[in-house]
Amino acid sequence: MTETGDKLPFGLQPRSVLLLYTESNAFKRKENQQVSQRTFSIIKPDAVRKGHTAAILAEIEKAGFKIIAVKKLSISKTQAEGFYYVHKERPFFGSLTDFMSSGPIFPLVLEKENAIADLRKLMGATNPANAEEGTIRKKYAGSIEENAIHGSDGEDTAQFEIGYFFAGYELA
Ligand code: ATP
Ligand code: MG
Repeated sequence: MTETGDKLPFGLQPRSVLLLYTESNAFKRKENQQVSQRTFSIIKPDAVRKGHTAAILAEIEKAGFKIIAVKKLSISKTQAEGFYYVHKERPFFGSLTDFMSSGPIFPLVLEKENAIADLRKLMGATNPANAEEGTIRKKYAGSIEENAIHGSDGEDTAQFEIGYFFAGYELA
């Protein structure tokens, strides 16, 4: 045992002290860093048809989201059913999947601190009649079904939905 080692409490060796010091520093850095989160969104066919795509993207960016990925595509009825499979027993499932496959959509991957909850807030209530002033659905949605925008409702859903529309290399 070295002379320095002998003087350290609890029989610690200089190397263990160094490890403890660096690990606690790393922890502090982590605590102070803002932790960013990814969510998934779709600008729905009604908003695209009405020419609101750019305005909705601007609202999203203004609210502090970074657009990680975006593309324009049309999906089939079967692909819409796969995306909204959690709603398969709901009475509106047929009509919802007809609507979602009725024209081009813009799937998006968005990133910011607290992205999932903050996007839901920015979107407003499912039914635009109940949506708060200033929300995207209040401004751009026409009905409870044709409601302009989708947003993931939790971490597991976001992961599934991002993977449904984007490959890993598109998110690098
Ligand atoms: P989204 O999942 O698209 O972000 P949401 O989470 O606000 O919307 P959900 O309950 O998950 O609402 O419903 C999914 C979508 O199904 C709604 O966004 C809307 O397009 C449609 N929808 C929901 N409720 C009804 C209804 N009662 N009648 C017709 N369509 C509906
Ligand atoms: Mg939902």
